[in-house]
Amino acid sequence: MTTLLLEPDLIPLAMLNAMAYCPRRFAYEYVQGEMLVNAHVVEGLLRHAEIDAGGVAWRGTTVQHRRVYVWSDRLRIGGFCDLVEEQAGVIQPTEYKKGRPGQWQADHVQLCAQALCLEERTGLSIAQGAIFYFAARRREVVQFTSVLRATTEEVIAAAHALVARGVLPPPIEQRAKCRECSLEPLCMPRLAEQMDRYWQHEEDAR
Ligand code: SF4
Repeated sequence: MTTLLLEPDLIPLAMLNAMAYCPRRFAYEYVQGEMLVNAHVVEGLLRHAEIDAGGVAWRGTTVQHRRVYVWSDRLRIGGFCDLVEEQAGVIQPTEYKKGRPGQWQADHVQLCAQALCLEERTGLSIAQGAIFYFAARRREVVQFTSVLRATTEEVIAAAHALVARGVLPPPIEQRAKCRECSLEPLCMPRLAEQMDRYWQHEEDAR
């Protein structure tokens, strides 16, 4: 008799960036599959074209693997690392971003999730990674501290919980994030809040 084993869904690493930024954004993009393509999104895709070609190259004693698929069975996440560098048994992921370093931790969470996958796949411990920001021409080194690891695992757990619930969370209160969010025209956070208040008022009046 054949037993059919259903694999648990792996949440894409890139979607963890959205979840760390805003649970509502994650729900739109991953749970509902909705995206808005604007000039920033297209620029990001073009910037990524070379990286996404993949391949292996040597730079001195360092081996560079581009577009590496990694996953974690424990955390039920998976996706691509833009670049994984390997030198003398030390490995380090690098993520490429179109813009500039922001004040939010979403990029760090995405990179740390890559490291957690790489650690599970290789058995090695990874101390740090890097994010290269095209607009700033700046490479930021990110230490995988116990705090960042814990935050990343919390984001992953919250993402799985949100997928299981299958609901669209309310808008976040950090409006500075909304101003930078490509989904703002779809989400309409102010209107959504007004509607919530209206329905709450109607329910209280009953
Ligand atoms: S506009 Fe604000 S609340 Fe809506 S998805 Fe973007 S960040 Fe989240």
